[in-house]
Amino acid sequence: MARKKIIAGNWKMNMTPSEAVELVNTLKPLVANDEVDVVFCVPAIDIIPVVEAVKGSNIQVGAENMYFEEKGAYTGEISPNMLVDAGVKYVVLGHSERREYFGETNADVNKKVLKAFEHGITPIMCCGETLEQREQGVTMDFIRQQVKVGFQNVTADQAKTAVIAYEPIWAIGTGKTATTEQAQEVCQGIRQCIAEIYDEATAEAIRIQYGGSVNAATAPDLFAQADIDGGLVGGAALKPDFGKIVNYK
Ligand code: PEP
Repeated sequence: MARKKIIAGNWKMNMTPSEAVELVNTLKPLVANDEVDVVFCVPAIDIIPVVEAVKGSNIQVGAENMYFEEKGAYTGEISPNMLVDAGVKYVVLGHSERREYFGETNADVNKKVLKAFEHGITPIMCCGETLEQREQGVTMDFIRQQVKVGFQNVTADQAKTAVIAYEPIWAIGTGKTATTEQAQEVCQGIRQCIAEIYDEATAEAIRIQYGGSVNAATAPDLFAQADIDGGLVGGAALKPDFGKIVNYK
């Protein structure tokens, strides 16, 4: 069965709650396409107004992070129950910015992935190499480790519903998109890694996105690749361009 594309916006630390509602109202008609899954991953404070604003549309709401404990003395963190209660369906985990600026490790990401599944939230687990790693020829070794540790103790049935976002760090926010060949090669490698951990059926079911300076011009070729099931989009998700990316065909 063909995998349904999933095109998600990662708003990062942009948009106040009132700006968020305005942006949703602008984008809603532009992203009305039921052939793909459309997800807006928004800052925590925007989740409640955005869930309200997307009602009746095809847009689903995601968070950009989540803590792996249920509740308690973790000042500043957001629990899975809080996200579920607010109407969140997806959560971006292990984004390279969280790994780089907030010290998130593969083991942390794994705990978050497991917690997300426990609460019925679909993780969008990010992985991707630095420019140095690419130049050293260790891209796939590094990503395989991120995927293998990130999916530790995740069952095959859970993995089938997961989303992995391949985001080369050198392509995020830089305007430099990986070539379609580079993106396809790594996404295929990730699927192969999932087949090794689980089996072919799981590898066939899991959705793998490409992320890194995706725009309306690059999306059609990228999303036409056999192992690329959509995109995780940063900068362009805040513009009407996102509508063109969602309607890439
Ligand atoms: C991202 O934030 O995940 C991302 C890919 O950003 P951009 O599209 O701006 O490179």
